[in-house]
Amino acid sequence: MKPAPFRYVAPTTINDAVRQIAEFGYDAKILAGGQSLIPTMNFRLAQPQVLIDLNGVGELAFLETSPAGGLRIGAMTRQRTIERSALVAKNAPLLHATMPHIAHVQIRNRGTVGGSLAHADPAAELPAVMVALAARFKLRSVRGERWVPADQFYLDLFTTALEPDELIFEIEVPPPPPRTGWSIQELARRRGDYALVGLAATVQLDETGRCSNARLIYLSVGAGPTPAPAAAAMLLGKTPDAALTLEAARAAAHQDIEPMADIHATAAYRRQLVAVLGQRALREAFARAKESS
Ligand SMILES: Cc1cc2nc3c(=O)[nH]c(=O)nc-3n(C[C@H](O)[C@H](O)[C@H](O)COP(=O)(O)OP(=O)(O)OC[C@H]3O[C@@H](n4cnc5c(N)ncnc54)[C@H](O)[C@@H]3O)c2cc1C
Repeated sequence: MKPAPFRYVAPTTINDAVRQIAEFGYDAKILAGGQSLIPTMNFRLAQPQVLIDLNGVGELAFLETSPAGGLRIGAMTRQRTIERSALVAKNAPLLHATMPHIAHVQIRNRGTVGGSLAHADPAAELPAVMVALAARFKLRSVRGERWVPADQFYLDLFTTALEPDELIFEIEVPPPPPRTGWSIQELARRRGDYALVGLAATVQLDETGRCSNARLIYLSVGAGPTPAPAAAAMLLGKTPDAALTLEAARAAAHQDIEPMADIHATAAYRRQLVAVLGQRALREAFARAKESS
């Protein structure tokens, strides 16, 4: 398969990149790792007139501690860089633990954090993880910069808050608050496949051991990262135990999530996974939160 003809431009600075994005607008596509875009172009599902390659823009590839003690990640940071980073393991262990679930090493060598977040595949792990971590994204255009919280970035299926002249410049992950725990759970038919269902969970305990915050963000069950607010509300103010985590996971499956059927799984099977993975995630996340107390 070959893509339709296109013009190729390769800016080397962020200012040039945003100028070209503004100039070509809807006719252009940004090329990051190419792991989603190039197959789409080869199938001719995408036929951009112009490809704006960000691989030469060094200003977009950085990974460092944020002033608050979390992380600042440049959009062109490779997924494999995140996976191999001791800094990420320390400052954002949920993000670090997620990386091996994404595709295969060869894809993670090229695939970027910004590319995955902008692509907004409802089965992708990184969008759900960024919502669970309360991350925010810095968007850049010739008009300037703006920050968008991850939970306001995903609008619909493959649809984000990005305007046609904007790119993701940076991702900021806050440091984990005290007494927090996390878990990433998913079931895929084969290691490296997209998950049939998955979730990223973060929880926090107060000084008395009661749950003071909980985020359960599912993937592969809706148009984008899908929260489970009824389950989270059930946990608040309570001391977590096996009965409570089971009750909350059931609430996620029966009140919060309306999974769809497709060629890979029935809706009923996905609903069952929502409950099973939800319970596993909450157990693990609360155990980690207790350990860190
Ligand atoms: C076989 C296979 C299996 C995979 N399995 C998984 C999986 O299990 N889980 C998973 O999450 N992903 C999976 N992926 C996708 C992979 O993670 C991709 O790397 C990712 O979705 C896109 O990242 P990229 O850097 O390659 O972006 P590209 O393919 O280059 O771009 C993707 C889209 O994002 C836009 N874009 C890129 N960067 C920016 C930016 N900075 N600002 C604005 N828009 C931008 C592009 O214009 C394009 O529309 C798989 C891919 C393959 C080929």
